[in-house]
Amino acid sequence: MIHYKLSYEIPTRHFIHVDFCMENPKADIQLINLPFWRPGRYERGSFAKNIQEFHVFDENKKHLNFRKVEGHTWEIETQGAKELHISYNYYAADLNAGSTYVDRGILYVNPVNLCLYPVGEEATPCTLELKTEEGLKVLGAMPELKDGKYQFSDFHHIADTPFMCVKKSQTIEVKTDRSTYFLHFWGYFKLDETKISRDFKKFITLNEALFSENPYKDYHFLFIGLPNNFHHGVEHKESTVIALGPGHSILGKDYNEFLSISCHELYHAWNVKSIRPIELWPYRYNEDSYSNLGYLCEGVTTYMGNLLLFQSGVWEFEDLAQEFEKFFDRHFNNFGRYNHSVAESSFDTWLDGYERGIPNRKVSIYNEGALLTFCMDTIIRKKHDGKKSFHDVMHKLYEDFYKNGLGVSEQQYWDTIAHFAGEDIRAFFENYIHGTGDYHAIVDEAFDYLGLEYEAKPAKEFHEAHLGMKIVQRKGENPWHIIAIYPGSPAETMGLYVGDQLLMVNDIEAEDDFPKWLEYFVDDKYQFVLRRNSIVKLIELKASERVFYKDYKVKRLDHPSRSQREAYNKWSYKK
Ligand SMILES: [Zn+2]
Repeated sequence: MIHYKLSYEIPTRHFIHVDFCMENPKADIQLINLPFWRPGRYERGSFAKNIQEFHVFDENKKHLNFRKVEGHTWEIETQGAKELHISYNYYAADLNAGSTYVDRGILYVNPVNLCLYPVGEEATPCTLELKTEEGLKVLGAMPELKDGKYQFSDFHHIADTPFMCVKKSQTIEVKTDRSTYFLHFWGYFKLDETKISRDFKKFITLNEALFSENPYKDYHFLFIGLPNNFHHGVEHKESTVIALGPGHSILGKDYNEFLSISCHELYHAWNVKSIRPIELWPYRYNEDSYSNLGYLCEGVTTYMGNLLLFQSGVWEFEDLAQEFEKFFDRHFNNFGRYNHSVAESSFDTWLDGYERGIPNRKVSIYNEGALLTFCMDTIIRKKHDGKKSFHDVMHKLYEDFYKNGLGVSEQQYWDTIAHFAGEDIRAFFENYIHGTGDYHAIVDEAFDYLGLEYEAKPAKEFHEAHLGMKIVQRKGENPWHIIAIYPGSPAETMGLYVGDQLLMVNDIEAEDDFPKWLEYFVDDKYQFVLRRNSIVKLIELKASERVFYKDYKVKRLDHPSRSQREAYNKWSYKK
C-alpha cells in the first residue's frame, strides 16, 4: 500500500507539501519515480523541476541515503526499512487544465504532476489524505473516503483523478438513465443553468447511445473560468478539467467553444481513456510513448465531438460549418501538409506537437485527423447507404479491444475501418494517413455525397491575401510579429522571416490599427522597419495581385439532389 498526504501552510506561497509512504519497499535499493509526462499531452512535462525539498527516511525517522539517477528518478538505499517515507514539496503556481495550483481558497491537483510512485508497482493500491484550509469543498471523481482517506485502486487511478478543493463554486447536475453528470464551475462564469442543462443533456444522451455502456459510473466536468483568453481541456475516464477564458464571453459569444470542448472531452471517456493506442496501454509515465495513432485519439474525437453537437440538435448546420471552415483554413493554408503525414506528426508530438514549430514542417493530429475521419465517415456511409457510419467503427473498437482489456494497434485500427469501409480504403490510409496526398479530391467527394460545398476566397486580412504573411500583436506590445509566411509571396521573396517584429510601415508606427495601414498602402511600395535579433532593418516590397492566404466558406448546396438530401438527413439525424 502507498499513502499520500497533501498539505500546505501558506497557500499564497504556492508550495504543496507531500508526505509519501510506501509499505514494504525493496530490501536494498528502491527506485522511485515522478511521471515526466501526463496522459492527454504527449510530450515531456518535466514535473520534477517543481520539487524543491526532498527528504527520505524510514519508519523510525532515520534518514536514508538517496541519489538521483535521472531527472525524475531517485534511487534509495532502504537498508531493510519496513516503511519508506519521502517528504517533499511541490511548487504549484501554474493554472491550466493539466497543472496543480494552490492559492487562497483553492487547492487544485492533478496527482500525476506530483505523486511519486515506485517503479514497476503502478498496480499497488494507494490512499490520499488532504489537509486544506477550513471550509473547502472537494470536487471531482473522488473514490470512497474511509477513515479520512480516499481509496484508489492503483497509481493509474489516482493519476487519472484530478480534483479541486474550493471555497466558492457552482454545480449543475444532469441526469440520464445511466449516470449523473456534475458540472462544477469555479472562477469567472455567469451561468444560464437552464440552457446549459438542456444542451448538455442532449449531447450526453446521444454520446451514451453510441456505446453499449458508460466506462464510468458518474462523470464530473471541472470548469475553471479564467480572466484571460484560454482554451484547454484534459480528458480523464470519470472526469475532465476544462480551463476557459475570458470569463466575460465564454458563456456568451464563445458559447459554442464551451460546448465543443465539453463534448470533445466527454467523448474521450470512450476514445483514449477506453479505446486506446497499444503504445499507451498501459500508460508508462517514465517513457516517451511514441504512437502514430494521435489521429485516432484527437482527430476522431475532434470530428465526433462537433458531429455529436450537430446530430443531437444542439448545433445547427451553420455552427458545424464554421468548424469545417477552421479545419480548411488550418489545412489548406499550411504548407506543412506537403511535408508531414498526420501519422508522422502524431509520432512527433513528443518533439513539437504543442507549439507552432518551425515553418511548414507538420500538420495537426486534431485538424487533419478530424478532416480524415470526416472523409472516412462519408465513405462508410456511402457504402452502406447511410446505415453504417464511423460510429460503428468506434463501437466495434470499444467492444473488441477495451472490453477485452486491450490496446489498439494501428493495423488493428485500419482493419476495423476496412471491416466497414471495404478493402479499397487501404489506399486511403497509405495516401492520406501515412502520405501527404492532396485532400481536395477526398474532401470534394465527401462534400458531394452530402450535398455540401465550400468556396475559397481571398483572406479577409489584406496582408494575408496579398502580401502573404500572417501577423499577430502580442498583448501590451506595439510591434506586430510575423507568425507565418506564404511560400512564393512578396513577404517571402523580399526577405521577411517568421519571428520578425514589424515596427513601422511607410513612417507609420505599428500600433493596434497596423493591418488597416497595410491595406491603405496597397498602391504604394511598402517600406517596413523591422527588428530581427536586436538589429533594425529596412525591407521594401510591393503587394501582389495574386491571392496567397485564403478564407473558406462552407454551406449546403442550394439545390441538392434527392440522394444528397437523403445522405445529409441520415448524417445530420434530421428527419
Ligand atoms: Zn482531445
